[in-house]
Amino acid sequence: MKTSIAIIGAGIAGITLARALGPVADVTIFEKSRGLGGRMANRRREGFAFDHGAQYFTARSEALRSVVGAAVAAGNAGVWPKAVHTLSADGLVSDTRPPEPRYIGLPGMSGLANALADGLQIHKEATVAGLAHSGGGWLLTDGDGKDLGSFELVVSTAPAPQTIRLMPEAFSGQTAMKTVKMSGCFTLMIGLQASLDLGFDAARIDDPILSWIAVEASKPGRAGKTAFTVHSRNDWAEANLERDRNDVKSEMLASLERLVGQDFSSADWLDLHRWRYANVDQAAGLPYLFDEALGLGACGDWCLGNRVEAAVKSATALSERLVTRLQGN
Ligand SMILES: Cc1cc2nc3c(=O)[nH]c(=O)nc-3n(C[C@H](O)[C@H](O)[C@H](O)COP(=O)(O)OP(=O)(O)OC[C@H]3O[C@@H](n4cnc5c(N)ncnc54)[C@H](O)[C@@H]3O)c2cc1C
Repeated sequence: MKTSIAIIGAGIAGITLARALGPVADVTIFEKSRGLGGRMANRRREGFAFDHGAQYFTARSEALRSVVGAAVAAGNAGVWPKAVHTLSADGLVSDTRPPEPRYIGLPGMSGLANALADGLQIHKEATVAGLAHSGGGWLLTDGDGKDLGSFELVVSTAPAPQTIRLMPEAFSGQTAMKTVKMSGCFTLMIGLQASLDLGFDAARIDDPILSWIAVEASKPGRAGKTAFTVHSRNDWAEANLERDRNDVKSEMLASLERLVGQDFSSADWLDLHRWRYANVDQAAGLPYLFDEALGLGACGDWCLGNRVEAAVKSATALSERLVTRLQGN
């Protein structure tokens, strides 16, 4: 019988890990959300579409390049943006450097995760809230105490602060996880029925409140409707995380209006998303965490860095360790 493994989280790390372990183990993913992809997220509302999490990703490793190459060929990923300009109170500074290829999921950012998840066993809207030692493995329960099944090995890919709470104090990775620092981000989503050309597709923003703006209609495979996704700075989000959402929205909007010289007060769609754990300020500095004696592990971007690539690298490193372990059984 194959070893049973539960993976907590269907972001890019969980899906990468499950794909690699699939041939040698009986793998089940539990994902608390309705959709896959985690922070590689997108949202559709009233005909407007927004990638409200990760904006694009690079593929510097050979392994990720080959996965992304296949996804591009299959229409599940595309290349965007050609250039990332810089917007500040002084105006727009164009990026003239030859671009490193940057990728997005199609038809939305989660499209890559959806395609890679094909054939995997995933329980959606299943939040793992408890792990209890049972026999030779772990019994997983949800927030209502409902039994989600027993597994010989369990790996969490949830952000470090959430994995700390899930794992028992005896887990050998606790100390490393406690060194990880993650910060929040607010994402403002603006939809307009009228078209509006800002003169760029994507820009970093040099501002005390905002850090990024993407013109959604400039992406391949997206609906042509005018939609802008705007990220706050992480430090500003951290200082304002518990503030009233309408105040946050108004401050971000006012900053954007000043920068682009447009009034968005009568926008046809305006929404705000709060990411509690968006980006990694300080990573664990280890490719993954695995407690051989307990049969518990953790991986994700926060092990190694701050990006989609770090999440893939971390999950790949843990999968190599587990495949070797399982094949030795
Ligand atoms: C606003 C923002 C902008 C970003 N911009 C970029 C960018 O431009 N480029 C880039 O490369 N990266 C960017 N990132 C970072 C990138 O999104 C992450 O590095 C990457 O997606 C992390 O993948 P992961 O699988 O490690 O974690 P996640 O994507 O966070 O996946 C973890 C999954 O676990 C699930 N989960 C958590 N707890 C539980 C539980 N108890 N039970 C069940 N499921 C659970 C979550 O719902 C989630 O789906 C950005 C992130 C944000 C939020």
